[in-house]
Amino acid sequence: MSDALSVSDRLSSVHSRIAAAAKAAGRLGDAIALTAVSKQQPDDRVDAALAAGYRRFGENRVQEAQARWGERRRGYADLELRLIGPLQSNKAAAAAALFDVIETVDRASLVKALPAAMEKAGRAPSLLVQVNTGQEPQKSGVAPGGLSALLDLCGEAGLKIDGLMCIPPAGEPAGPHFALLAKLAAAHGLSVLSMGMSGDFETAIRFGATHVRVGSEVFGARPQTKP
Ligand SMILES: *Cc1c(COP(=O)(O)O)cnc(C)c1O
Repeated sequence: MSDALSVSDRLSSVHSRIAAAAKAAGRLGDAIALTAVSKQQPDDRVDAALAAGYRRFGENRVQEAQARWGERRRGYADLELRLIGPLQSNKAAAAAALFDVIETVDRASLVKALPAAMEKAGRAPSLLVQVNTGQEPQKSGVAPGGLSALLDLCGEAGLKIDGLMCIPPAGEPAGPHFALLAKLAAAHGLSVLSMGMSGDFETAIRFGATHVRVGSEVFGARPQTKP
């Protein structure tokens, strides 16, 4: 999409594409939620989405999200903020205080830190486990073979897990990774499937995504100057 389009136009267009993909897959359009990934985007684009009535946003860094949303979120009681980037255990309390959903629970140390962090924050965000479906060494997420053990640990820690999230390897067909995530979620009775980004959200919907995370197709390309 051209950068000249407004955020509001882009949001409408992405919503239409979600509806079309849902229809093609024989699913209901409102079974799929759009997370507008605002990471690294200028505030004016985010404010444009808010002005257009949009309320569900994804951020990948706790500090960047605090700076953007700490004050801004007060004006919007129905805002839903989702953490989609890796979480360090020492930032777990700050994340629990800000986010409504943490999509990136991925290891034992974080599972152990979360109960105290949520107690300290006085909030209990919904939690998803990130699965490293491509088993890429540089990527976060529990390996598919380690998911059962991590979910057991969550149970022992009293953490309720609502679903799974994945980021397929770049440059590979995403379908098999989405299929694997859907299979793992079904095997563990988990209903939320966060999968699909700007380049592949329609494929993800075909494989059962309940939440798609779309950044550049909603806001335009992320500016290079803000890493
Ligand atoms: C950046 C990011 C997205 C959005 O990427 P786009 O290609 O801009 O849609 C989705 N999910 C995660 C985890 C991300 O870090």
